[in-house]
Amino acid sequence: MTNQRNVNEILDKATDLLNPYEFKGNLLSNPEVVFSFKPMSVVQLKKILMHINDERSVEKILDEILQENVKWDLGGDFDPTCLYSEDRFWILYNMRLKSRGETLETTFKCRNPKCGQPTVANIDLTSFKITSGSPKGYDSIQLSDRVVLDMDFVRRKDIIEFAAWSKVREEVSEDDQEVDDQKGKEFFTENVNEIGKGIDYALGLYALMIQKIILKPESPESSNTEPKPNEEITNLTIDDKIKFLERLNEIDYNKVKEWYDNNWFGVSLKKKVMCPICQHEEEEVLNLGNFF
Ligand SMILES: [Zn+2]
Repeated sequence: MTNQRNVNEILDKATDLLNPYEFKGNLLSNPEVVFSFKPMSVVQLKKILMHINDERSVEKILDEILQENVKWDLGGDFDPTCLYSEDRFWILYNMRLKSRGETLETTFKCRNPKCGQPTVANIDLTSFKITSGSPKGYDSIQLSDRVVLDMDFVRRKDIIEFAAWSKVREEVSEDDQEVDDQKGKEFFTENVNEIGKGIDYALGLYALMIQKIILKPESPESSNTEPKPNEEITNLTIDDKIKFLERLNEIDYNKVKEWYDNNWFGVSLKKKVMCPICQHEEEEVLNLGNFF
């Protein structure tokens, strides 16, 4: 006879047998790192769709799903908040393909002002451009002979921290509330995979990527003088980093931008969509809201 305890055990076993970690992938930032995952369950997909208009809730749900459905092949804790944003999205992208298929039916509004009709587009999700990370790692940016920036890509936990920071700032400075509110919102309503549309978004993103600022000493006056060590500025707040970037001249700011463009990896969610009524073609960017 099976008692309730046995029933639960058998149910768990059956669930595990039906949902093995059957798919594998490699991180975009480092192809040597292999992960295994199971497709999303009906309940998980339902949860996403229920909150689809609230991006912050959706991101939290996605973290939970990643935690439950993914593991590292070499073992060790799988913590989705430690993933680079681009790797995190790459895993979700793979899960989406295996859970809901490779096509996406989505609605766009035709941007031809004379037309403006809603367009239903069937998008082949496997046709997006995928860029792998640089195998040589992410070097630093030499702004001048004496100023070097140590850079890294943004991880999910940086974004969570940024959200907390913008919330605190909202509460602290009542006067600037509207501005800060707007900055925080802009940052979050834009998918991190969507490359900057506005200057504020790009600035916030680059600021999060600065790990430290290194100041090199002046070259010694004579070869007998012992060279001074580098000064390293770590523990910079997001405010400090933004302030620093805002003070750069255009040439130096472009070096930061170039570093980002040259090293970026991830799934580009840009897609050309044609309006079936007026044949107007426009590049659309998918966001999380219409991805699942
Ligand atoms: Zn049209």
